[in-house]
Amino acid sequence: MIGLIAATAAGRRGAARLAAALADADTRVYDMPVAEAVRTAFAECEQLVCFLATGATVRLLAPLLADKRTDPGVVCVDEAQRFAVALVGGHEGGANALAGRVADALGAQAVVTTATDAVSLPGLDTLGLAAEGDVAAVSRAMLDGGPVRLVAETRYPLPALPGNVVADAAEGSPQLVISDRTVDPEPGVPTAVLRPRTLVVGVGASRGVPADEVLTLVREALADAGLSPAAVSHLATVDAKADEAGLLAAARELGVELRAHRAAELAAIAVPNPSDAPLAAVGTPSVAEAAALASGGELVVPKRKSVRADGAAAMATVAVARVAPRGRLAVVGLGPGARDLLTERAKRELRRASVIVGLDQYVDQIRDLLRPGVRIEATGLGAEEERARSAVRLAEQGLAVALIGSGDAGVYAMASPALAEAGADIDVVGVPGVTAALAAAALLGAPLGHDHVSISLSDLHTPWEVIERRIRAAAESDLVVTFYNPRSRGRDWQLPKALELLRAHRDGTTPVGVAHSVSRPDEWHAVTTLDELDVATVDMTTVVTVGNTASRTVAGRMVTPRGYRWQV
Ligand code: SAH
Repeated sequence: MIGLIAATAAGRRGAARLAAALADADTRVYDMPVAEAVRTAFAECEQLVCFLATGATVRLLAPLLADKRTDPGVVCVDEAQRFAVALVGGHEGGANALAGRVADALGAQAVVTTATDAVSLPGLDTLGLAAEGDVAAVSRAMLDGGPVRLVAETRYPLPALPGNVVADAAEGSPQLVISDRTVDPEPGVPTAVLRPRTLVVGVGASRGVPADEVLTLVREALADAGLSPAAVSHLATVDAKADEAGLLAAARELGVELRAHRAAELAAIAVPNPSDAPLAAVGTPSVAEAAALASGGELVVPKRKSVRADGAAAMATVAVARVAPRGRLAVVGLGPGARDLLTERAKRELRRASVIVGLDQYVDQIRDLLRPGVRIEATGLGAEEERARSAVRLAEQGLAVALIGSGDAGVYAMASPALAEAGADIDVVGVPGVTAALAAAALLGAPLGHDHVSISLSDLHTPWEVIERRIRAAAESDLVVTFYNPRSRGRDWQLPKALELLRAHRDGTTPVGVAHSVSRPDEWHAVTTLDELDVATVDMTTVVTVGNTASRTVAGRMVTPRGYRWQV
């Protein structure tokens, strides 16, 4: 039971809200003077949530504390309900986990101060794979820092595991097994199993096949081959069977989707046991085996038929293929700098990776978010493209790699050199970031209200003639222009030249916004004009946005009208 204790009206409202949110847990609100409430709840509950100051809670708890293995876990919530603090019993009492639940329920932030959680070791259930077996014992062993034996046949693109999880830990250590096979744990050895989704089950069926017949066949085929149903990625069949009710129901029961392949695609796949019947019926000599193999991989269970108790003809066939786990490359934009402009999705991908690739300064921007044990491949300016390619090589080895870049990682950054190298054999996930032009625009006003373009003034990789041609085109077509890489110590004539090209088609009074180090501690911005811009204020951590002929300055802010007729 979770005991809820409050002393003030706000606290009581919070307790009621929490009780409602934790509807699936057994909660009780202790409606009595707080000292008595804490005493009573401490004796009756496994966990306490005190809507009280930490100081008050510590004083009330102190005489009650006996043994961290048996004391309840206690979480404190402050009067404004901004924080849920795991106060005592972080691990054994479950207070760390409870703080997280309370924080989620109240929209507060969890505060956890025990070493392992504060450095955010991965929970086995957060690794992106289904976990079964003695997850609690193995998680505890991982947190305690003792040896944990990692047993895996292949490399899976997992997040970083802590340094105490190793392949060569002593026999008898708690085990973390990553496998699609059924596992018989050794007695006395705590064993948790992570299930990669590496099995594809191909199924063929006659019209009207009962779901049970399919399910029994699938389960028996897997069991006889020593494979786990939890490792099934999906059922696969031919498109003519895509809406076969028995197949759909079986897939639902297994918690996976039914994917259909075109008959012609299946007919082109070489299989050990083709036959004439499906060729006549649906246009491919194999459904089960070919569909199982349609995602690549190798056949581990050849075609077998269902057996019907009444001796009638089988209505289902099944075959199983195993696909090699695919490496994963996440291309993650970190935003312009400030933590609150880093997206939740980007954070998740950073914690999903076991290798981070990027410029040192960007790694520093997010180092505190990384899992312990993560490998960092940082690089100085210059070697970026090479690094981007090495990120692809690492993903090809089956690792989970995050390639990071400031702003959006696809804008004048690492995504294109990386994806120019990446083949279809790895999974690629892009996470958009707030690019400098947008972060700057929000500071400057509304400069991008009509058609706009970004132009990099860096002529290191692009000949100046090309850059100049694009600036002229932007000038002639009256586009708002944002200049990236506008000016550095060694490249100082390009910006004045670029402004001159725009000036040929725009008034000297055209608004120009300068935004420096946006969302970083040394941020500043200014709105000036084409004639008055002092280019000496512009450096490499700046973007310069030049308005079009309709842009105006209103109350110090840059505004580009949307230009629809109804606005004129
Ligand atoms: N991928 C990045 C751009 C990399 S090119 C993005 O999407 O933002 C590097 C240029 O971006 C710099 O020379 C500067 O012009 C601009 N830039 C990047 N971060 C910036 C920031 N925080 N403030 C102002 N300009 C920035």
